Amino acid sequence: METYDTIIVGAGLAGLQCARLLASRGASVLLIDRKPSLDQSIHTTGIFVRRTLEDFDIPDYCLGPVVQHVTLYSPSLRAMEFASKHDEFRIGKMGKLYRHYLNQALRNGVTWLPGTLYRSHSREAGRLVVRLERQSEDRSVRVRYIIAGDGAHSRVATNLGLDTNREWIVGVEKIFVGARLNGPPRLLCFLDPALAPGYIGWIAHDGEETHVGVAGYRSSFHPLESLNKLRTKTKHIVDLSRAEEVEQRAGTIPIGGVLRRIANAHGLLIGDAAGAVSPLTAGGLDPCMRLSTLAADVVTEFLRTNDVSVLSNYSGEQFRARFTSRLWARRLAASVRNPKLLELAFYGLSIPFAKPLAHQIFFGRGSFPDVAMRHKLVSSASLKVGA
Ligand SMILES: Cc1cc2nc3c(=O)[nH]c(=O)nc-3n(C[C@H](O)[C@H](O)[C@H](O)COP(=O)(O)OP(=O)(O)OC[C@H]3O[C@@H](n4cnc5c(N)ncnc54)[C@H](O)[C@@H]3O)c2cc1C
Repeated sequence: METYDTIIVGAGLAGLQCARLLASRGASVLLIDRKPSLDQSIHTTGIFVRRTLEDFDIPDYCLGPVVQHVTLYSPSLRAMEFASKHDEFRIGKMGKLYRHYLNQALRNGVTWLPGTLYRSHSREAGRLVVRLERQSEDRSVRVRYIIAGDGAHSRVATNLGLDTNREWIVGVEKIFVGARLNGPPRLLCFLDPALAPGYIGWIAHDGEETHVGVAGYRSSFHPLESLNKLRTKTKHIVDLSRAEEVEQRAGTIPIGGVLRRIANAHGLLIGDAAGAVSPLTAGGLDPCMRLSTLAADVVTEFLRTNDVSVLSNYSGEQFRARFTSRLWARRLAASVRNPKLLELAFYGLSIPFAKPLAHQIFFGRGSFPDVAMRHKLVSSASLKVGA
């Protein structure tokens, strides 16, 4: 049976970041994804915020043009403008970025199995045996540790006996090229509880691509119908009449905050599987990168020392405190379902001392916290780990 230090289930942004870091430190890594190709079924708009762009090596060819402007719309389409002197957002070309990170991981020695489903695992003779399915054939591998990057509905988290997400919104978007919109590239956010109950509708236009989407509580709306209604409602703002629709994306976003129990002696959770999404903005890309980086540090040290106390560095509790106010802010915002009340709240945001608050939500740098390991940190890129 093939043996690896670790298996990473899921080659989304979280799994790829973790894979390339761990392999660069000498760990033998098996990376699997049930998708045959990483460009398939992408389920993110891909908006990266300034803090991520500054802190991580995301190559320019994987990013669209800079966006510095945001317009927030009330249910009746009253507009409030926000501008930043900084390069605040860039829309990632996610297929290219996934491939770029995968190539780095492969160069570092990662074994890559696309089209492979994680089924289950068990403990046998002190090792973990992971059962996989590829092209309808079963296959087992032996590993020392499992990393779950398998998204919001993580089967691995359940099988590891770790916490699982309980609160979600769903999102759907269409991507167009050739849309026309007056003014500079911008992010348009639409408050409309009928079209996006509990979240927002958005049009993200960077001059190259235009993403039109809605998200909200599943039980309260029909995402595709809402998306079409948003297109009709905003057709005087963004002209899609001669635009070509090139892709549709959809997915679930966990919004209950980082889970408490995200690691044990057999495995740990990263990205959406760990609930690592800002409960207020529903942004998960920055948390993916930061939490996966910490996970790679912790797992490297664990593989090197076999000391389970190292894993105490990887607890959701240390992140949850930071998110408490955002969690309540989103629950409060989500509870306002009356358009007139939302209109009033929107008016409240326009008064002088409240507008900086909204400015802070769009352009603030208080994203996912950086948490360094308290325990001994292994940073050497040439460290060799192994059984
Ligand atoms: C519509 C939408 C728009 C969004 N827009 C933004 C945005 O603009 N900015 C932002 O910051 N965040 C955004 N988010 C959130 C962000 O995209 C996610 O938080 C992030 O992509 C999660 O990455 P991940 O690697 O944890 O999970 P995923 O990208 O979900 O990757 C999980 C991978 O695991 C694989 N997998 C699952 N189960 C198995 C299994 N049993 N065996 C093998 N493989 C498996 C899946 O195929 C998948 O490739 C958005 C989310 C949605 C749904």
